[in-house]
Amino acid sequence: MLLRVPPPSSKPADLSRTYDAVIVGSGAAGGMAAHVLTSHGLDVLMLEAGKQVDTTAELHSLEWPYDHPRRGEMPYDRHALRGAEYAFRKPPYAPKDAPWKAVHSYVQGWNGTDYTKNIVVDEKDHPYTGTNYAWVRARCLGGKTNIWGRLALRLSDYDFKGKSHDGWGEDWPISYADLEPYYDKVDLYLGIAGHPEGLPHLPDSKFQRSTRLNPSEVMLRHSIAKRGRVLTPYRAGVTTDGLKHNKYRSRCFGRGGCNRHVGGCDIHAAFDSPTGLIYPALDTGHLTVRTGSVAREVTVDPGTGKARGVAFVDAATGQTMEARAKTVILAASTLETARLMLLSKSSQHPSGIGNASGHVGHNFCEHVMGPGVDGFVKDLVGKPRTLDDGRPGGFYIPRFRNLKDRQKDFLRGYGFEGHGGSTMFPSSARGPGRSRTSGAFPSCASTSSSATTRRRWPPTWPTPRARCSRRPGSRSSTPTATS
Ligand SMILES: Cc1cc2nc3c(=O)[nH]c(=O)nc-3n(C[C@H](O)[C@H](O)[C@H](O)COP(=O)(O)OP(=O)(O)OC[C@H]3O[C@@H](n4cnc5c(N)ncnc54)[C@H](O)[C@@H]3O)c2cc1C
Ligand code: SF4
Repeated sequence: MLLRVPPPSSKPADLSRTYDAVIVGSGAAGGMAAHVLTSHGLDVLMLEAGKQVDTTAELHSLEWPYDHPRRGEMPYDRHALRGAEYAFRKPPYAPKDAPWKAVHSYVQGWNGTDYTKNIVVDEKDHPYTGTNYAWVRARCLGGKTNIWGRLALRLSDYDFKGKSHDGWGEDWPISYADLEPYYDKVDLYLGIAGHPEGLPHLPDSKFQRSTRLNPSEVMLRHSIAKRGRVLTPYRAGVTTDGLKHNKYRSRCFGRGGCNRHVGGCDIHAAFDSPTGLIYPALDTGHLTVRTGSVAREVTVDPGTGKARGVAFVDAATGQTMEARAKTVILAASTLETARLMLLSKSSQHPSGIGNASGHVGHNFCEHVMGPGVDGFVKDLVGKPRTLDDGRPGGFYIPRFRNLKDRQKDFLRGYGFEGHGGSTMFPSSARGPGRSRTSGAFPSCASTSSSATTRRRWPPTWPTPRARCSRRPGSRSSTPTATS
């Protein structure tokens, strides 16, 4: 059944009271914090810098390219950054003389940047400097969950205890066994489609009905199995069986639109934080959401030195206000959260709140994205075309290196996302394609806040500066896609 339930409205924030918790940010992290706390009866205020965007209307998952005046591209007076521009241009990526009215963050190789122009930031308003780095930011209710690629994988002890396997880096203080019960809860609450494979390095989730591999993908699954490698249907953060407890999300109708229009799904079968977490939390009566509220710093009680609340700026009026709470949760995304902590200086926290170690803003561990390869399955050339669209993803090939063996001069592993079959043009002009994803080792010269240039709004805040470099070890864990 297709569910179309309008979003619940929030009551206005009451800044004269002390909430049980104030949460900064409404993405995956902020949404989950709001859901868990309100389900236990705590009164929570959520501050979100961006607006509430009606993604049901915005994403047009079913629109055909020829029904859009520019086949999904945004108007010509705006520019959507391409992946390569982050390498050959120098940040800030929207310089003062940029000829466009707006310059939007990169959202990977998907078509349809027009659908995301109200979701991702305009780099003119939110510049950053430093080394070349693609910092994709979604500034609206739900953050990046409105555009994510839906690949929902569990980490394993090959990730948490990497040092014990190969001697590099540091082991995490937690293990997969510690997290497994929480993964289980999240899967049952949000819905995830996939096929169990029983792999210790890619633990199975509590799966809903899997999407199907098409003939070219099945052929690839069988051929790489001979080399001990696994190709499994895309593990998608999408509900394929429906969620009885959630009236805002329909089950996946297999329309394939999410691959055409970035990650978004206008019937919310693909998880997003608003319909998956925030609206149900609002329905408890314990959550208040204040959009257009840009957190500036964590305020502290001068007596105890503990967090007292959050100072924020109203995006419409420019007025600064304070929201008070017993607990402050920063969930403004990895880099913005680090920046907020560094900006939260007081006599008790001279180098920023929670930064007595000096490590905040360092040891950034990036998700390395790589080039892809395309090919033809020669046994299928000339065969009748099949209808292979209509899935929220193709396949995933989990890591296969350095599991039982130890490879000389090569650390850790990487996985491939891909798809094959006959899909709508222009994808149909390609064969099974694979792109690579892998982890990186943390680098100790990472992010910081500086006052080198000013952001257009608010005018007096320091502009973030990224300084990232790859450690030698991470270079050897980023091979070519054909290896
Ligand atoms: C194109 C794309 C594809 C992706 N695909 C995948 C995938 O397939 N699988 C996967 O696992 N991950 C994927 N990711 C990554 C995933 O989406 C993110 O890791 C995740 O959504 C981050 O959640 P978050 O809550 O930490 O941050 P965000 O979702 O970024 O949320 C942070 C929120 O905080 C708000 N905020 C920021 N600063 C302030 C402030 N000062 N005051 C108030 N609010 C503030 C922002 O507006 C935003 O709404 C993808 C990301 C992108 C961009
Ligand atoms: S394929 Fe499923 S998840 Fe993707 S847009 Fe269609 S209904 Fe949504």
